[in-house]
Amino acid sequence: MTELIDLRSKTLEEIEAIVIELGEKKFRGKQLFNWVHKGTEKFNDMNNIPKNFKKKLEEVSILKNMDILEVLRSKIDGTRKYLMILNDNNVIESVLMKYKHGNTICVSTQVGCKMGCGFCASTVDGVVRNLRAGEILGQVLAVQNDIGERISNVVLMGSGEPLDNYDEVLKFLSIINHPLGLNISMRNITLSTCGIVPKIIDLAEKKLQITLAISLHASNDEIRNKFMPINKVYNINEILEACKKYIKNTNRRITFEYALIKGVNDKTEHALELAKKLKDILCHVNLIPLNEVNESAFETSKESNIKEFKKILDGERIHVTVRRELGSDIDAACGQLRKNYLKREHEQ
Ligand code: SAH
Repeated sequence: MTELIDLRSKTLEEIEAIVIELGEKKFRGKQLFNWVHKGTEKFNDMNNIPKNFKKKLEEVSILKNMDILEVLRSKIDGTRKYLMILNDNNVIESVLMKYKHGNTICVSTQVGCKMGCGFCASTVDGVVRNLRAGEILGQVLAVQNDIGERISNVVLMGSGEPLDNYDEVLKFLSIINHPLGLNISMRNITLSTCGIVPKIIDLAEKKLQITLAISLHASNDEIRNKFMPINKVYNINEILEACKKYIKNTNRRITFEYALIKGVNDKTEHALELAKKLKDILCHVNLIPLNEVNESAFETSKESNIKEFKKILDGERIHVTVRRELGSDIDAACGQLRKNYLKREHEQ
């Protein structure tokens, strides 16, 4: 049996080609694309598409490419953590965050991750497979359908390394940005990477207006090498050089993520060292209290240390904020929902 076409993974041009291939007029492509991006899950709901064409579509393609398996809802701030099951039974996580400026979704880009960061639960069992563009988009559509509200911002910060699934991530960006699709502006999209330098440079050359976030988490290579294996391939200096290129080409401010780990990267000397490295770069530092996970022994820094670290960066005139903790009453750290699910499945 040939594989069914995942319509959510297709650009408008590809959908038009499919429509023509099925013997229909090209304009049906726009109609179909529009339905796909409304999050429509049944061909029957497409009331401007002829019945016999809907039947043909149903034979060769799918709309819905995941189901919501579990939702944890925060009573404090409306955060929702989703466990989604894909058509091949793999599971992924997505998180909805409610901000004053709109609904933001954090999406996964891979099933698992192979980057091996020492503090992260998503990478413990390695990577299973890349997500298709339509499966990254499917998370947005599934959550929009669930909450009945529009999502205005997307962060590629869930499980997986987006630049390790580069082609599908780029395709996702172009599809979600399409005026006949969800039409989410590139400026409302953040891509977070552990620092795959050649891909950052390639991205810089594409001159997209997305926000680039770098998971830096250390002020020098010796520390970064301890918990981020990728640093042995691309070190901090190389990352910062690539970032400068990105800024030069796009004029966009870069975000550096810095998870504070007790006794490892949270001392005064580290803050000063970090400030020195970033002083000529158009950037913003996002300090993150480490989310402690069962799989690792790293502990989160004391609140007083976090405050002190911020104060030093402030004093050095580095733009810095501390990430507000959302959904603290549904305390499932990144990657934990999936891990718990896999554990349950395994025990059955
Ligand atoms: N692979 C990409 C995106 C996914 S991880 C990247 O590395 O950026 C998203 C962010 O969460 C990264 O900054 C990552 O370092 C951070 N992260 C992972 N586990 C964490 C934990 N236990 N506590 C705090 N931040 C964590």
